[in-house]
Amino acid sequence: MKNTVIEATRIFPEEARLIATEKIKYYEKIKKPYLADIKTFLSKIKKIKNKFSQSFWEEALKVVLPKEYCHAVERLAYWRNMERFMTNKGFKKKIIDSEHDKAIAKTVSIQQLYPFQKLRKVGKRYQALCPLHGEKTSSFVIYPNNTFYCFGCHQGGDSIKFLQLINECSYIEALGQLSGGGYGRSH
Ligand SMILES: [Zn+2]
Repeated sequence: MKNTVIEATRIFPEEARLIATEKIKYYEKIKKPYLADIKTFLSKIKKIKNKFSQSFWEEALKVVLPKEYCHAVERLAYWRNMERFMTNKGFKKKIIDSEHDKAIAKTVSIQQLYPFQKLRKVGKRYQALCPLHGEKTSSFVIYPNNTFYCFGCHQGGDSIKFLQLINECSYIEALGQLSGGGYGRSH
């Protein structure tokens, strides 16, 4: 059924937009009670002078974040993407699995699509907690050529594959969202 979300939003654009707005409101509400505590914690971390203990506490925060909060953040990213997609002019354009669209989609940076707050730069790569499986140490890597690989769950690929996995959508749907605009370019 997930593959048909895009088609459904085409047939019922107004309804789909309303649903997206409702969902965003709903998940914002879930997120809200945690925000003050997280902000306080983050500002305390920022004051730590030692870079190592600073990144330790950043990782620690991710581990202790309530599941409900993480889920809301994840879903919010999804619905915001959908909303952006639906309000974009490109939405009316027919999605074709063309080389041109693919090329555009692949330039959208994975960093930007990454749903959690913090990515750590290690040399030319980014390392972070994997959004595709539960883990406590960072085994998810984004490479300078805008591909990703997780040493924990062994998933990897380009930006299209990444969006497909985090939004649990079809290839065409991910391609459509990425090439239809609404996302900044990495170059
Ligand atoms: Zn993983």
